[in-house]
Amino acid sequence: MADNQSVLSVSIVTPDGRVYENDGELLVIKTKLGQLGIMPNHVPVISSLEVDEVRVKHDGEEDEIAVNGGFLEFSDNVATIVADSAERQDDIDVGRAESARDRAQAAIKKAQEAHDDDTLARAEVALRRAINRINVANH
Ligand code: ATP
Repeated sequence: MADNQSVLSVSIVTPDGRVYENDGELLVIKTKLGQLGIMPNHVPVISSLEVDEVRVKHDGEEDEIAVNGGFLEFSDNVATIVADSAERQDDIDVGRAESARDRAQAAIKKAQEAHDDDTLARAEVALRRAINRINVANH
């Protein structure tokens, strides 16, 4: 049986509550400094996160979670991800994400025409969230 030295404990929390909690053998996550693969006994990490998927390998399976920004704290084999929002693969409403993608694309076009940089930046982030959800749901 696995002991505490050979597993990671991964939890993902958002303002809405805990979205994910499991033990695993590998955490793959995209930080602002690049992609990280974290195995048990990895050195401590604190980093801001990209809007991207988080993968947790455990028992020959892989869980995928769409994580929409936030940060990672890892130490003593405990990974805590605090995200603005996050959804497990099975909880993603693809139709909603596709509508959000279409709205964001229209908003980007409008903001570019109006030279509205603030609205453009917000719409680009909304587009990244929508595409991330669609990608995770379709894997
Ligand atoms: P939308 O425009 O569809 O609301 P959004 O990117 O603005 O998308 P967020 O503000 O990131 O949404 O999230 C608000 C809440 O809705 C969060 O709890 C998030 O997990 C959930 N959520 C957003 N989009 C989806 C989706 N496609 N499927 C499931 N849950 C979603």
